[in-house]
Amino acid sequence: MQTYLVGGAVRDELLGLEVKDRDWVVVGATPEQMLTQGFTQVGSDFPVFLHPKTHEEYALARTERKQGHGYHGFSVYSAPDVTLEEDLMRRDLTINAMARSDAGELIDPFNGRKDLEARELRHVSLAFKEDPLRILRTARFAARFQPLGFGVCAETMELMRSMVAEGEVEHLVAERVWQEIQRALHENSPGTFFQVLRDCGALAVLIPELQPEPHFRAAINALQCVHASDGSTAERFAALFCALDEAASTKRTKALKAPNDCQQLTRLLAIFIPALKQLDSERPDADTLLGLLEKADLWRRPERFSLLLNAVECTLEPKNQRQLDILKCAADATQGVDPKALMEQGFLGKELGNAIQTVRLARITQAICSSTS
Ligand code: ATP
Ligand code: MG
Repeated sequence: MQTYLVGGAVRDELLGLEVKDRDWVVVGATPEQMLTQGFTQVGSDFPVFLHPKTHEEYALARTERKQGHGYHGFSVYSAPDVTLEEDLMRRDLTINAMARSDAGELIDPFNGRKDLEARELRHVSLAFKEDPLRILRTARFAARFQPLGFGVCAETMELMRSMVAEGEVEHLVAERVWQEIQRALHENSPGTFFQVLRDCGALAVLIPELQPEPHFRAAINALQCVHASDGSTAERFAALFCALDEAASTKRTKALKAPNDCQQLTRLLAIFIPALKQLDSERPDADTLLGLLEKADLWRRPERFSLLLNAVECTLEPKNQRQLDILKCAADATQGVDPKALMEQGFLGKELGNAIQTVRLARITQAICSSTS
C-alpha cells in the first residue's frame, strides 16, 4: 500500500503558497486494512478515512463514471487495483491532478506543473463534462489565482461553453451552487468568478439578471469595492444585485437559496439605492429618512445597518454621496432616544411607539437642518 499527497496541497506548495489542508490518496489498500490501522471511515458514498492522529483525509484510489444528470448519478469504483494515475484522471484541473510520493517525487501525468508555470487552468480529460460543478470550481480557481496571472485556457473555456449549451448547468442543485458562490465571494478576485461564468454562458443560466450590461459592470465594481473593504458575505452578495430592483433581486436571491442575512441585505439595498438617489439633498425629507431607518430596523439591528451603509457606499455613484451623508446623519441623530425615559413620562403601548417616533422625527429634522444649513 502506497500513500500520496494530492490535489490542492501539491499545487499550493509548488506555487509557494501556504498549504492549509492536506488530502491523501491510498493505492493498493482495502477499507478493512485502513480500519485495522486505526483510520475511521467518513462518508458512506466514497471510501474516505480520517488518520487516527492528524485527522487528515485519506481516500482510497477510485474511478468515477457518470450515469445520470448533474451531480447525482456517479458510480464509484474503488479497489486495490485502481492506480494513482486513474485516480488523478477523474480530477477537474491539471493543476489539481498532481501527487507527491512519500519519497518526495512529483507524479504529474497530466502536465499540471507545466500549466502551473504557464498560469493556465486546463481540464484533465473530457470526463470534465461529467460534472457541471467543475465549471463553478474552475471559475472559483480563476478568481483565486487571477492575481498570480492565471486564466482559463481556450480549450477548457470551449468545453465549458459546450456543457452550458447542452443544458448541464440547469441540473445543478441550488445548495451546491450557493456553496461555490459563497466561497467565490471571498476569493482574491471575486469579480473574476462571475466574469468566467459570463464568458462561458453559465451566468445567463444561474443569475440571468446580471448578464446584460450595464448591470454586470455595476455588479462587479460594487463587489470589488466591498472586497477591498473586507466586507462580509452578505455585503458582497448584496452588492452583486445593486443594479436590480427589489422584485427582481428578491426573486433571484430566493431561487439561489441564499441564507436569510444575505437575502435581507440584498432587499434592503434594493430599497435604499433608489430612495437615496431620489432624496433631495438640498431639502431632505425627514419623514422619508425616518421611514427608511424603520425599514432597516436600525435600532434593533445596528450591526446590519452598518453592513448596509458599507454596501450602499460601494454602489452609489459619487454624485449621490451627499445623500448617503444625510442618511448617516439622520441615523446618528436617532441613536440616543430612550424608551425608558418616555415610559417614565407616562407613555405606554401604542402611545409609547408614537412618542418614540415623534422624538426621532424631531431629532432627524434638527440634524438635517444643521447639516444642510
Ligand atoms: P482548496 O484549496 O480550495 O481546498 P483543492 O484543490 O484542495 O482546493 P478540494 O475541494 O479540497 O480542492 O478538493 C481536493 C481535490 O479533489 C482537488 O484538488 C481536485 O483534484 C479534486 N476534486 C474536488 N472536487 C472535484 C470535482 N467536482 N471534480 C473533479 N475533481 C474534484
Ligand atoms: Mg482542499
